Amino acid sequence: MINQDAALTHLLDLLAVDGLTGRESKVVSVLTKKLIAAGCKKVWIKTDDAHKRLGEGFEIGNLIVKLPGTVKAPRILFSAHMDTVPLCKGVVPVIKGTRVVPKGKTGLGGDDRSSCAAMVTLVETLLKNKTSHPPITLLFPIAEENGLHGSRMVRLTDLGNPAMGFNLDGQYPNEVIIGAMSAVRWTAKISGTSTHAGLEPEKGISAGLIASKAMAAVAEKGYFGRIIKGNRTGTSNLGSINGGEANNQVMDQTVMTGECRSHSPAFLDQIVRSIKPVLRRRPRA
Ligand SMILES: [Zn+2]
Repeated sequence: MINQDAALTHLLDLLAVDGLTGRESKVVSVLTKKLIAAGCKKVWIKTDDAHKRLGEGFEIGNLIVKLPGTVKAPRILFSAHMDTVPLCKGVVPVIKGTRVVPKGKTGLGGDDRSSCAAMVTLVETLLKNKTSHPPITLLFPIAEENGLHGSRMVRLTDLGNPAMGFNLDGQYPNEVIIGAMSAVRWTAKISGTSTHAGLEPEKGISAGLIASKAMAAVAEKGYFGRIIKGNRTGTSNLGSINGGEANNQVMDQTVMTGECRSHSPAFLDQIVRSIKPVLRRRPRA
């Protein structure tokens, strides 16, 4: 039932559009034209104001398309981000044997234009064949590559409150990922007082010692490494620790970075709330 020639054309057209992160306007216009040609009504298509809320460096919002259902059923969402990485600038996609490859030394931008093309093909196939379908929302977010900024700014109400969603942005079409870690990254800067460590160490305050004590306290509370509290799990890590200038100097500055993870946003919050006060505590004089 899928018109494979049309599907390939959609893919080649979309791969050829320049649309690096924050500069997705051309992708929006090509997608909009294709969706209207596929049978979408103009009123179903809009862009949100995500770019305005993100601030400078973003020229257009997320593209959102809401198809009414032909049957009464929960709304389903499909999403694929529009932006590509800088390596894809100026891409010219060409067919080589059974593959689509970039002509020059650029990247192809198959991440995630192949899924954008698949969503156009999905809508075209449903509408041209008058296939019955539930209400469908297509979300084409901006600015995924530099930190999921478009998706982060999406309002659920703008999406029509879908009951479930499929984000098409993985490696294999037959692989489904049903969960993702939430992560929080942290940086702690510790200031001490530097003195000569051989002549007057008692007048110095070692940032290194404070950092060591703080991490030891985090571990003693049970929030270091793998964390298991009842049926809730997460992890916490000290990733880097940098400071000090010389062996004969009391360490005056230390910068520690780390991260916490959990599948449960609530438990992640608990981990952060347990670690933060320890790192923030002022040492007694
Ligand atoms: Zn991607």
